[in-house]
Amino acid sequence: MAEGQMHPNDTAEPTTTPARRQQPVIAIDGPAGAGKSTMAAHLARRFGFLNLETGAMYRAHALKAIDHDLGFDEEQTLLDLAAHTRITLQPQLEGNRVLLDGVDVSRRVRDKDVTVAASQISIHPHLRSWMVAQQRKLGEKGGVVMEGRDIGTAVFPDAEVKIFLDADPEVRGNRRYRQGPPDAPVTEAAIIKELKERDARDRNRAESPLRPADDAVILDSTGMTLEEVLTAAEQIVHSHLASTSNPTQAPVTGTNP
Ligand code: C5P
Repeated sequence: MAEGQMHPNDTAEPTTTPARRQQPVIAIDGPAGAGKSTMAAHLARRFGFLNLETGAMYRAHALKAIDHDLGFDEEQTLLDLAAHTRITLQPQLEGNRVLLDGVDVSRRVRDKDVTVAASQISIHPHLRSWMVAQQRKLGEKGGVVMEGRDIGTAVFPDAEVKIFLDADPEVRGNRRYRQGPPDAPVTEAAIIKELKERDARDRNRAESPLRPADDAVILDSTGMTLEEVLTAAEQIVHSHLASTSNPTQAPVTGTNP
């Protein structure tokens, strides 16, 4: 199982002339709850690529900050902590298994306190720069579907395929609400409120704000079924593969490398 591990001494300086990749990078960006993870997992299975959820890195680091009782506005302290932190993403058929210093935190990082903290720590430019360096390493050989907020704009501005997946906040909130456990003590209105707050932080931060890359295909899934969205995403990737002479793997179904 391939996995991505973060090394604290790397920087996010852009590579001058990136070596030509044998296989494409597929960048999927968009706001919270748009369905990026579902799309990334689907495309990864369909084309035999690795899916990497960059949000899980911010979440894992936020969890470590919570465990160390750190303030989310203390960038230098958060960076110092990063130097002693090992985050590993293990792509699975659905999403990523996340290890924090060797411990599986895949479930814990989805809790609400970690979700909010991840959004708060992700505004810090130097911490972002550190994250971006790790993410570039993970994807440098291509053959990855990477999803997040800044993949097409900052992590891989030269990604071969860029999709910006959007939907109205009410629709995203409603989908999240229906996906949740039926007995969860949370209202749909509360979910929509939290999504809007995270969106606002992501869109308004100074460093790599959430926005579509100029050359991204924008897919608004507001009035679409899941099947329609996944079919549209596949077609976007297919049309890229058809228009390039890069050697790529034949499509596969049902397995992850
Ligand atoms: O995608 P996910 O909801 O797991 O991301 C958690 C948080 O991490 C987001 O709310 C966002 O603030 C931040 N994030 C980011 N850049 C990324 C991925 C996630 O700022 N590439």
